[in-house]
Amino acid sequence: MNWQSPFSLPGHWYKGNLHTHTTQSDGRRSPEEALAWYREQGYDFCALSDHWVLTPGGSDGAGLVSLAAAELNGDGYHLLTLGLSEIPSRRLEHEPQAVIDAVKAQGGLAYIAHPYWTGRPSSEIAALRGLDGIEVYNSVCEVSKGTGHGRVHWDDCLSAGLRLTGLAVDDTHWGLEEAGGGWVMVRAPEPTEAALLAALAAGHFYASAGPAILDLRIGGAEADAPVLEVVCSPCAEILFYTCGPRGRRVAAEPGASVCRASLPLQREQVFVRVECRDAQGRCAWTNPVYLQDVFAC
Ligand SMILES: [Zn+2]
Ligand SMILES: [Zn+2]
Repeated sequence: MNWQSPFSLPGHWYKGNLHTHTTQSDGRRSPEEALAWYREQGYDFCALSDHWVLTPGGSDGAGLVSLAAAELNGDGYHLLTLGLSEIPSRRLEHEPQAVIDAVKAQGGLAYIAHPYWTGRPSSEIAALRGLDGIEVYNSVCEVSKGTGHGRVHWDDCLSAGLRLTGLAVDDTHWGLEEAGGGWVMVRAPEPTEAALLAALAAGHFYASAGPAILDLRIGGAEADAPVLEVVCSPCAEILFYTCGPRGRRVAAEPGASVCRASLPLQREQVFVRVECRDAQGRCAWTNPVYLQDVFAC
């Protein structure tokens, strides 16, 4: 099996927000004020991703790590980029594939931001090459327009054969109640920019807007009958999403909660990812498990 659960890796869990705006572009707080807020909220890392402005990474010496970041947006698309060393030429602005290529050439990571809010059809995203992931949840889009979820875009791209991780972010501009509304929990050996970026690239994380995921593993009595098992904080329902209608919903009885669920795995599912939803409708999202990896010899 070529799949490894982040829950079985050595290291620790680190909480971070990967999409943040400041007065360097259209945010209302200065970079210093923004970083101070995340530090006070107990975050381990943060990425200041202003529009076409690169904020370098590093450590503030007080426990908060920054990841180099910028949001590179053009006509009909926004790209959240991490770990880059310089801003690509803005002449590429209206060619998302050229921007992605420029970011990847620097060893950076590129994510489609808030696809529902932007109105980008899944088919156009799935035609892009080199993406690392997609925002499955964007807090400011949800709070302002109800368009924060990207789960259908994500599944469309996964069904088309792309391998994309899923981020939850707050994308705060400090004007509404969006700050802290979405984050990632990254499993890494140490809280450094390099280790966190490597773990993000490898998919060693989960995303959340509330619930905690406590375990994700493949069990099952027989090697040829694997079962995906998830454990989470008390939730109202646990959902398994796959390619086509091969998933499962496990719901708690009214007034009760569910903390674990499982799904037998089949090659035809192509991918399986799990969402845990609490009684307030807040979700946590695992990254996809690819059945090709599970059944690899
Ligand atoms: Zn944006
Ligand atoms: Zn943004």
